[in-house]
Amino acid sequence: MQNNQIKLPTYVETPSINKDSMAGEGPFKATVEIQNNLGFPGEKVENWHQVAIDKMSETKSKYRSVQVFLDSCMKCGACTDKCHYFLGTSDPKNMPVARQDLFRSVYRRHFTFAGKYFPKLVGAKDLDEDMLDDWYNYFHQCSQCRRCAVFCPSGIDTSEISMAAREVMNVIGVGQKYTNQILGKVKKIGNNLGMPEPALRDTLLDLEEEIKYDTGVDVKLPIDIKNSEVLMVSPSADFFAEPHIDGLIGYAKVFHESGVSWTLSSYASEAANFGMFIGNYDVMREGALRIRKSALDLNVKRVIVGECGHAWRVAYSFWNTLSGIGGGAEDDYALKLQNQLDSNYPQPQHMIEFTYDLIQNNKLSFDKSKNNHRVVTFHDSCNVARGSNMGDIKNGQFILPREVIRAACNNFIDMHKDSIKSSTFCCGGGGGLLTDDLIDLRIKGAKPRMHALKQSEQESGVNTLAAICAICKSQFSRVLANYDFDPYMVVSVHQLVSDAIILKEKLDQ
Ligand code: SF4
Ligand code: SF4
Repeated sequence: MQNNQIKLPTYVETPSINKDSMAGEGPFKATVEIQNNLGFPGEKVENWHQVAIDKMSETKSKYRSVQVFLDSCMKCGACTDKCHYFLGTSDPKNMPVARQDLFRSVYRRHFTFAGKYFPKLVGAKDLDEDMLDDWYNYFHQCSQCRRCAVFCPSGIDTSEISMAAREVMNVIGVGQKYTNQILGKVKKIGNNLGMPEPALRDTLLDLEEEIKYDTGVDVKLPIDIKNSEVLMVSPSADFFAEPHIDGLIGYAKVFHESGVSWTLSSYASEAANFGMFIGNYDVMREGALRIRKSALDLNVKRVIVGECGHAWRVAYSFWNTLSGIGGGAEDDYALKLQNQLDSNYPQPQHMIEFTYDLIQNNKLSFDKSKNNHRVVTFHDSCNVARGSNMGDIKNGQFILPREVIRAACNNFIDMHKDSIKSSTFCCGGGGGLLTDDLIDLRIKGAKPRMHALKQSEQESGVNTLAAICAICKSQFSRVLANYDFDPYMVVSVHQLVSDAIILKEKLDQ
């Protein structure tokens, strides 16, 4: 056991309050260049207070949900012990209601009658330097996972308030380095990693050779092939690191078996869209438009999204109005794309849905014994669980991934019911927090998920943690060892598929 490993309780404890235990300066701030790349001021502007209040005014008018959330909290306390960052850090400002109140108190001061004239009576506060510091610190201790919203009787979604606060901070010139640097790379190169096209092509060729070596079958990972049936848009982590890359191999094997032509795109080599994390519609749209352009240029009939939690939420919930994939936007390109895409299929579709449909129609064969060394459990990723659906059936986002796992594995066990599906705990690294400058927070925030996993390990012998989110996989790979787990126990769901799928071409040989 490593020295810095965290001892887990035998149940999820509500911690004693440890005031200001996570006070600090927050994650590294973006440089002038990083900010300017996204069209934000490079440094805090001189009249920052007025700019911030103006932006709050715009936000509450544009996104009515934010104003409703700010007006409707009745301080019932139901959310207080539902945030993994509060459970992991004991800092009361990480209680969802307290996090919201950082924004709400300023809203009250400037936008309500009582707050303007009797601020102390209604908890209204000024946006001064100290408050701004708290905003920066604590709104970067929210992974925008929406767990608190599930338990709030009014459905107040702290993630939307967190997004609004980050947007206000960006427009005054106080941005986060990690998210904004990555968004700059997508803008310039097309993916979060900043991986240039030649490197991407080399990687895909290497993977084809690896699959041929392992299976004897010519499974292709095509790129920029015009008139393919499917454009696959995947998180760029799938091109780069374990365990993500094994999931990509799984997608390729599934497409191979399906006989459906598919292609990746060098121009839109990223499904992730950190524009959502910073609450900026224009930045989020830019990422979506790269995918639209690729779909049009490659003349595909379908768009399928790989294993990435927030990417799927953006695709499922926002692509329609951002880009016209799925209907909604009405500009010429959106209309052209809507005519081009095949309306017999969901647009967009998740890779899990594609694989599930093939399984349902007996188009895939598995040797499940290949995964017999595994006792698998599944981590529901927040943005999939609480921000999307799959398969056009109620709770499809919970059912389909489990059915795909069960098709490929003999041993599947769910974690404790209070820690899965709509109650799932965040991995601790979502929402733009997957950066080493927040590693202490990430380790502490993972505690509730690690606790449930530990229970499953002890009670059922679970030794494999499957996920369908690039951020979750990266976060778990980094923090599992801190909780006395094997860091390699995390896998892509499509890795389980990949290991068990029977490639018929091999049988014919
Ligand atoms: S959205 Fe998630 S991280 Fe943010 S306050 Fe709610 S439970 Fe905590
Ligand atoms: S559960 Fe909802 S209404 Fe109750 S304190 Fe939390 S945010 Fe406010």
